[in-house]
Amino acid sequence: MGFEICIKWCKMSILNIFYSQYNWLWPLLFILMSCVSIFCLQNTKDKCGLLFLLLGGLVLIGVTYLNQDDRFLYSMNLSYNFVTFIKLFIVLAISVLWIFSGSELYSNRSPNPEAIGFYLTLGLVVCIYYSFFNHSQAMANTISFIILNSGLLILLCGVVLRFLQNKNFANVTLCLSIVLLVVQSLTMNQLYKYWGNNLNIFNWLWLYVLTFSILLTKQNYLLSELVKSWNKIDILNLQIHSMIDSSPFPIIIAKITNDKLLLVNTPAAQLFNISKKEAPFRKLKDLFVDEANRQNFFTQLEKEHEVQDYDLMVCNLVNAAPFWLSVSAKTIEYNHEMAIYMAFQDITQRKKREAGLQSQADKDPLTLAWNRRYFEKLVPECIKECLKKSQNFSLLMLDADKFKNINDTYGHKFGDKVLIELANICHNSLRTDDIVARFGGEEFVVFLNNTDSDSALKVAERLRQNIESSTIEDDNANAIQFTVSIGVVSSEKTASLDVLLRQVDDAMYLAKKRGRNQVALYDEKAAQTVLNQKTRHQHELDVHPIFQNEENEEISLLDSYDSKIL
Ligand code: GH3
Ligand code: MG
Ligand code: MG
Repeated sequence: MGFEICIKWCKMSILNIFYSQYNWLWPLLFILMSCVSIFCLQNTKDKCGLLFLLLGGLVLIGVTYLNQDDRFLYSMNLSYNFVTFIKLFIVLAISVLWIFSGSELYSNRSPNPEAIGFYLTLGLVVCIYYSFFNHSQAMANTISFIILNSGLLILLCGVVLRFLQNKNFANVTLCLSIVLLVVQSLTMNQLYKYWGNNLNIFNWLWLYVLTFSILLTKQNYLLSELVKSWNKIDILNLQIHSMIDSSPFPIIIAKITNDKLLLVNTPAAQLFNISKKEAPFRKLKDLFVDEANRQNFFTQLEKEHEVQDYDLMVCNLVNAAPFWLSVSAKTIEYNHEMAIYMAFQDITQRKKREAGLQSQADKDPLTLAWNRRYFEKLVPECIKECLKKSQNFSLLMLDADKFKNINDTYGHKFGDKVLIELANICHNSLRTDDIVARFGGEEFVVFLNNTDSDSALKVAERLRQNIESSTIEDDNANAIQFTVSIGVVSSEKTASLDVLLRQVDDAMYLAKKRGRNQVALYDEKAAQTVLNQKTRHQHELDVHPIFQNEENEEISLLDSYDSKIL
């Protein structure tokens, strides 16, 4: 019982919405939707075909209303014959519209103009004849029926053939809407009898179905356009792919989300020593060597979406050998995914040159020991490291004994040779991580990390002996010996580099005062007494001594020394 009431209620609602004689809202809304959708179609032929179809259908509805009530035609004082002619002419126009529609929808072509001309002329002659010369309402109805259905038949053929060409849902609904039109036209009189003045369902149902079909056609069109653009994108991607691959520069494209390599061109594959086949299984981060360098690069890329000429430390993926590259990178969309595009340039040679220049700037050109500026930059870092590890460190200060005399006796060139030899002995006698710097003219400072005063004294003594026992040939092939005085200080009391440098200078001066060619550990008391007379000598800094005005203490030539030991 409840079920029946429910069904009845549904029927009533549907009737109210779609059948009501006074409810024009729905048909108007659908007409509007159809028109908007038709005008949004890009295919002009479909546009014309559907527009003619809609127009013909709407005029047909107008005709059915006219048949139901044609009083207003007579109220315009039109003759009976003329009213019949108008009705027949409208029906002829509808059928021509449908012939056009069927032709455009099927073959995207307008029908043959001669055929249409013939059809129109024949139709007009028949209409005129049966309206004015041989008037009969029954005959007029028959002719109207024939004209209307011949147009409709051609339209139906057109859409059925269209469906056979392209079996999609849009065309099925299009066929359905025409079938509804056919049903309406075939049963017009019967329906009128049955439904009376009520707006019958067949009058409008075809319109709803047609609107649905137009929307589907539009959707199909959009989908096909989408597929076309995807295909275009795929083709473009292929072109880009082959362009990138044939580029002489190494190029990599990597996915942002999972860091995977999407594309590695031939030069890049050679550069990183990976085959293109294994590239998809590699990650971008495998290429980086220095984590801080990598982080910095990605932070910059994230911020600016583009990085130009960034120096990257990367590695060969097979032997892990590190090398330098300059990279320009950009975030791009690749194969519908966010990716990083990276173009590389090998800058190993430039880096080597830069490193060479840097070391030239940090080294004394004569002895190749570090210069004082670099020593003062580097050693505080080493001291921090030692303090962190609670290790002692020591400083040695070496000063060639009576070097002035060497210069005076053998010439400046020979003096230079002595300085070179002195630096070489230091480098050869010490550990590789000890820092040897030329502090002044014939004065060297050595930083010994992880070394207490006892060890430093031993190192200094060994160094002194090595120097004392070495010889240099002069121009006459005589073996000349030279000596050094060495001051030693250790970080046991203070870690201040400035203080330690002053103390080691005092210790070296002590060694001089005690007779040269010896090692002296810094001792506060001893230093105080001896140093009262000390005139502190100037430290020379990267300036050739012949340009300097030396104010050192005068020591008589060769006193208390063997003639070969200066
Ligand atoms: P002492 O034992 O007291 O150190 O005596 P010294 O003669 O070595 O002392 P002094 O500091 O007076 O002399 C240093 C000399 O070293 C003076 C300077 O001409 C020379 N000298 C400094 N730099 C160079 C250099 O680059 N090449 C050469 N050939 N001589 C240099
Ligand atoms: Mg000196
Ligand atoms: Mg000297």
